[in-house]
Amino acid sequence: MIQLYIPLNFLGVIYREIKQSLTDLDKMFVLMDKEREVADAPGAPALAGLDAPTVRFDDVHFAYDPARPILQGLSFEIPAGKTVAVVGPSGSGKSTLARLLYRFYDIQQGAIRIAGQDIRSVTQASLRRAIGIVPQDTVLFNDTVAYNIAYGRTDATQAEIEAAARAARIHDFIAGTPKGYATMVGERGLKLSGGEKQRVAIARTLLKNPPILIFDEATSALDSANERAIQAELQSAAQGKTTLLIAHRLSTVVDAHEILVMEAGRIIERGTHAALLAQGGRYASMWALQQSDPSA
Ligand code: ADP
Ligand code: MG
Repeated sequence: MIQLYIPLNFLGVIYREIKQSLTDLDKMFVLMDKEREVADAPGAPALAGLDAPTVRFDDVHFAYDPARPILQGLSFEIPAGKTVAVVGPSGSGKSTLARLLYRFYDIQQGAIRIAGQDIRSVTQASLRRAIGIVPQDTVLFNDTVAYNIAYGRTDATQAEIEAAARAARIHDFIAGTPKGYATMVGERGLKLSGGEKQRVAIARTLLKNPPILIFDEATSALDSANERAIQAELQSAAQGKTTLLIAHRLSTVVDAHEILVMEAGRIIERGTHAALLAQGGRYASMWALQQSDPSA
């Protein structure tokens, strides 16, 4: 009994870790023969209207565990082609927004809509094709670097893969390994640092070039020189894309259409950078803190 229990429990932990990092769920489900938490509605159509879609969260309520509500009635809109930024302390529910938009979980009340379609009413495959996500913690597949970058755009040419890798500042590192883009990565291959994995995820998203982007503290694991360079690439990638930008460093959100300040699953302040500074509230004090201590 105990012998059976421990490995299953262990798998559960790995499963949750990977799910948190938004990676190849289909592969995981096949490997583990595990029930999905979300399912396609019978006869669900593909998501449509993907030429600069609007994203809306309408009165979204969500809990991972029914005993502990996380999001308690959250509403906001990312207008077509605009960027909405989310800031707030760790644990306030920012990454949960990303996971819900990608539909790793279904919400308990309210609706999330893309171009007017409830994401529960369309196929998960079409939803995930439309979204590119750079998660907070990237888990790579036990496959080649090229596979990991081209995942999501399997028809990409080697030249396209390299261009994306250059933009994400990971090309030189890859080219410097003996097998280059054919290098196996992950548990059974080359171990990459957090920053290197994050750059692979950025390259993957730049290559996929989807209409909706989610950056979840996408440069948090990078050193400041790489961060500045890649920030510029991400900003240009987000031009004209409907973007959810979860940010650690406030300097990256100043141009956002709207900034949401979250705390304990609620939006406590919202507005443009200038309006929030003028308001002199939580955002303004976070800003003052980061100005005086750039490493904060
Ligand atoms: P943030 O990204 O702002 O740091 P998260 O969205 O990751 O916050 O987490 C919000 C809350 O939800 C936290 O209290 C966290 O502990 C909890 N949480 C996150 N993932 C899970 C999970 N898989 N199961 C249960 N609780 C979770
Ligand atoms: Mg987070």
